[in-house]
Amino acid sequence: MKRFIKRKVIVTGATRGIGRGVATAFLEEGAIVTGIFSSDRTSADQFQRQCDERGYRITLVQLDVSDFTAVADFYRKIEEQWNTVDILVNSAGIRRDSLTALMDRHQWQSVIDTNLTGTFNMSRHVIPLMLKQKYGRIINITSPVSHLGFNGQANYAASKAGLIGLTRTLARETARKKITVNCVSPGFIQTDFISDLTEDQLAAYKRMVPMRRFGTIAEVVAAILFLVSEDSSYISGTVLDVTGGI
Ligand code: NAP
Repeated sequence: MKRFIKRKVIVTGATRGIGRGVATAFLEEGAIVTGIFSSDRTSADQFQRQCDERGYRITLVQLDVSDFTAVADFYRKIEEQWNTVDILVNSAGIRRDSLTALMDRHQWQSVIDTNLTGTFNMSRHVIPLMLKQKYGRIINITSPVSHLGFNGQANYAASKAGLIGLTRTLARETARKKITVNCVSPGFIQTDFISDLTEDQLAAYKRMVPMRRFGTIAEVVAAILFLVSEDSSYISGTVLDVTGGI
């Protein structure tokens, strides 16, 4: 049975990796999806063609989630078209690794701007639309690095730890309006996100995982769909680890 028929869903980072898996799963379950990407038009066009061939209703929008004003404009158009939004999945994210003592300001700021401020911008402007109908689901993607720390990832760890604070606060602020806000925390998932790692690094990271393998996009998608489904109507402000036991 399709669980999300005609649900209005926004997914950021929708044209690659985890976000693309999430957008596809919602489309398969009958939702109407607006997907956001940043700059990779080739991947966006390829995903659009794939959706068209399958008869799925997706609109892809190029938008920098870190741009507060552009995000506000985006939501003005969404309100005109949809009036409300049911589900927001904030999957857009980047890494710019460097040891802290060598990290430049741009490496620090770009990761904070996209991962943390981008999620704030997207959530800040969707809440009024969800309040209108007294219903909504927001999922933010954090990482185990947020509490473990990881060499070379001070910017990434700080952004993902910040997301947990943002999630827990927003969950409290909106709880009485039937809006839930949760995090999913994937471990190592085979996507472009970790495609720059060497074979040696990948082998070392795999040894850190108690299950001794990386996760799949489908395994993360399953957790996200659970948290936005009616089965989790009493779950808010939590972090669901999908890490193979890390
Ligand atoms: P990915 O394959 O690299 O895809 C990232 C997506 O985010 C792309 O669609 C990209 O758009 C979009 N994006 C990046 N910056 C953006 C911006 N400023 N505005 C709008 N969109 C932007 O990454 P992934 O593996 O799917 O990761 C998704 C999320 O999971 C991220 O938040 C990441 O931190 C988190 N995560 C991933 C892993 C992992 O192992 N893969 C583990 C833990 C957490 P373009 O295609 O236009 O660049």
